[in-house]
Amino acid sequence: MPTPPFTAAAFNQFLQEKKLMAARCPTCHTLYLPPRALCPQCHDDKLEWAELSGKGKLAAFTSIYVGLTLMNAEGFDRNNPYCTGIVELDEGVRISARILGVAANKPDQIKIGTQLTVDFLERGEGEEKKTFLAFRVE
Ligand SMILES: [Zn+2]
Repeated sequence: MPTPPFTAAAFNQFLQEKKLMAARCPTCHTLYLPPRALCPQCHDDKLEWAELSGKGKLAAFTSIYVGLTLMNAEGFDRNNPYCTGIVELDEGVRISARILGVAANKPDQIKIGTQLTVDFLERGEGEEKKTFLAFRVE
């Protein structure tokens, strides 16, 4: 099977398959998220896809009170915020995602360093079906 290109579209395709993938340099073993096709450290252009463990910890977060239309449709609004954050994965790369299992309306109770596990949110039906990256408090 040919290697999918190192694009956001390929990354999202892996999400549909419930895989959290990063690009890895076979020479210096550096991981890249978002994925990239060329390693800036050693200029290797034979990067490969590597599946991540999906374990990490919360590095930063924001509670969103006025969100995307998509999120409003899920019932989130000014009175019911949701949380997005930056997750530092055990492999050392960082990614932004929805954070689940936290009280977004009580941000003072959300702790940096909280252990998180990857989750995949499926929204829509049929052709419209999409999978979104999220992390859940363990
Ligand atoms: Zn490299």
